[in-house]
Amino acid sequence: MAYIMTKLFPTSTAGSLPKPTWLAQPEVLWSPWKLEGQELIDGKQDALRVGLHEQQRAGIDIVSDGEQTRQHFVTTFIEHLNGVDFENRQTVTIRNRYEASVPSVVGEVSRQKPVFVDDAKFLRQQTDQPIKWALPGPMTMIDTLYDGHYKSREKLAWEFAKILNQEAKELEAAGVDIIQFDEPAFNVFFDDVNDWGIATLERAIEGLKCETAVHICYGYGIKANTDWKKTLGNEWRQYEEVFPKLQQSNIDIISLECHNSHVPMELMELVRGKKVMVGAIDVATDVIETPEEVAATLREALKYVDADKLYPCTNCGMAPLSRQVARDKMKALHAGVEILRQELSA
Ligand SMILES: [Zn+2]
Repeated sequence: MAYIMTKLFPTSTAGSLPKPTWLAQPEVLWSPWKLEGQELIDGKQDALRVGLHEQQRAGIDIVSDGEQTRQHFVTTFIEHLNGVDFENRQTVTIRNRYEASVPSVVGEVSRQKPVFVDDAKFLRQQTDQPIKWALPGPMTMIDTLYDGHYKSREKLAWEFAKILNQEAKELEAAGVDIIQFDEPAFNVFFDDVNDWGIATLERAIEGLKCETAVHICYGYGIKANTDWKKTLGNEWRQYEEVFPKLQQSNIDIISLECHNSHVPMELMELVRGKKVMVGAIDVATDVIETPEEVAATLREALKYVDADKLYPCTNCGMAPLSRQVARDKMKALHAGVEILRQELSA
């Protein structure tokens, strides 16, 4: 059963929200849990409720779990798979950008049991609004691992795509309206994206009836990313490499970074016909956008995206921000969108 979006410009966030202090250290990425056992399970659910409430209070139309039940957007999913050894860690360079100690693939990968399905069911029980759920994309998953078994990035990506498809089908059955795959790696490995990255993503969405999205960004506002961005020059044209093929793909929605970014907005023309989640909120600064700034970014985007396909969003997740800043940014998004809605109805 597909949701029906009656409002023009339905708002959402890219995914993550800051965690409450009692669950994990705020303003830190991937910070460890402060609770254990049943207390942790209850604590995550309470955090999800709070995050949902904050989205609703801010006027967000398509809500999410705020990723309150995961420590990391990729490894929390991988932790639940067979064939991955978390003790035997190796140092790899992620997205050609920074080194990280990551788990190793030591055998055939498979999903032991559903990973996020219970969390999604819980979110579904809390609201009748459309809900969006984020999963890591196959290419970003392989980039966050050391592969000592398949010895082929492509082969491992196809294996992950099958696993993601199993999970996605169960999320759909749990009532998720939009399943989003996070693929920041699509902004880096252009040849692989076009050779097999988009194909593996299409394998991950095979047979789904709910809507599907791919989120491609320039990352959280952490130092490794801001340093990398400084090397990209005045015009960030990475999207140009992968959008033509994405436009031809079965993915319904493209989630992209826009506000305060050096991405030329006309690149959105390359995915004309798709729904576009346009990042109108910068997550790499604590400065709160004014509603007029949000409206200005979206007005410009309307030159390249049909009004009924424009979904205002944040550039990326807000996990590293303070809770107050995240709340204010969501409110600014809503207020900016209201300006635009009024302009169009006038
Ligand atoms: Zn992102």
